[in-house]
Amino acid sequence: MTDTPHLADTSPQHWKYISEGGSSIVFSYSGPPHPAFNGIALRLRKAPVPELRRHEDTEQHQQPQFGEGEEHEPDDPTIVFQHAVIERLVPRQFLPRLDAVRVDRVWLQELSDQIEAQRPAQRRMKDRIDRGRRKAVLATDLVGGSGWAVEIKPKWGFLPAPAHLSEETREIKTRTCRFCMHAHLKSAQGESVALGYCPLDLFSRDRQRVTRALCTLWDVWIASGATVNNLRVFVEGQKLTPTADPISLAPLAAHLFPPEDPPVRTQTLDAIRDAFTSALLPLLLDTPVLQTLSTLQRTLDSLDVDGLSALWARLRPEHATKLGKGEPEPTIGDWTRFVDTYLAPHARDGDTASPEETEDELRYRLLAYLLSASFKDCSLILRMRPGQAGTITMIDLDVKGIDRLVKWAKLDREIIDAYRGVAPRNCVDSWASSV
Ligand SMILES: [Zn+2]
Repeated sequence: MTDTPHLADTSPQHWKYISEGGSSIVFSYSGPPHPAFNGIALRLRKAPVPELRRHEDTEQHQQPQFGEGEEHEPDDPTIVFQHAVIERLVPRQFLPRLDAVRVDRVWLQELSDQIEAQRPAQRRMKDRIDRGRRKAVLATDLVGGSGWAVEIKPKWGFLPAPAHLSEETREIKTRTCRFCMHAHLKSAQGESVALGYCPLDLFSRDRQRVTRALCTLWDVWIASGATVNNLRVFVEGQKLTPTADPISLAPLAAHLFPPEDPPVRTQTLDAIRDAFTSALLPLLLDTPVLQTLSTLQRTLDSLDVDGLSALWARLRPEHATKLGKGEPEPTIGDWTRFVDTYLAPHARDGDTASPEETEDELRYRLLAYLLSASFKDCSLILRMRPGQAGTITMIDLDVKGIDRLVKWAKLDREIIDAYRGVAPRNCVDSWASSV
């Protein structure tokens, strides 16, 4: 691993805070030209604040097992998973390059001190950079540099096939998509949510429907001040936080309108929204990425959580209602064998046939469902650079833990229960018959 670059070759001051999610925080390199770091983003893991001290103490006791150089810490699971699994399922041109980088505690501490004040207050209360790590992830910087970029979290792009749904959910689940039902529940619980956005519109490749999806995401983005995470906008590497005043959108509008147009301050919100959707539309109508994503989600989740739970209950009657309980986390070897089977021609075309009641089948279906969850939760970065064609990249394809299954099964029941008796939305799945 001697060719793994080290962050100590750069100053923490040359890394600019970009954004953060639940488990990691992202920076973009903005220092002097450097072959290993130009155009590169850095992704660091976070650790919860109360646990951090304990983690660091424990980590110090454990240090000897890494050897004197600490460089034997394995690469971040995101890198291992992307190389072994994701790159076999998604064409490389739609994925960021991911590489390991070494880092030390002093450097992380310095970076942490320097950027803490820029982080959202509610995040700072919960977590911070995990300074116990000795490795981090370098990725293609998809939002920095000239031009602008949009991050869309598309979510579930398919309606389940009826074959494995239970009697009591079939009618509901084949009419309204999972995202729209979940949005209804969240909204009823007072959470801010992309209400009105239907992923099946975004995935449809129909001009009118894709426009509607983008307009809805935009309206929610404005109304929520960018706090709902289905849409984020970056201009020259800076995350844009909109208000109802069009002037807050000036950095974006400067890229959307030709210089001879009236000044940005005279543009209305609607005019900026129309220019925004028109700029993104050709890319979303052309790209094969959305269909790839929808097909992966649909074929990996071909039983629905209903069918998976039924198979589980037959083979694990002692834990019938605890999906996945006691099952070991998949190793990279397990994932490699899983992808071999998934990609083998006609190995499991069980979309309508009942799954076999065997241990092999159960394990295969559990892993398939976990992997479908990674694709349901990923983001797309649409990058628009002056004078260049727009590009789309699929990011945040992290491996999900098997212990999440029981929560997802429970959430599914809550979502369905909250949707009973509601005037249902009719969500149209354009790709249902083409898989
Ligand atoms: Zn929908």
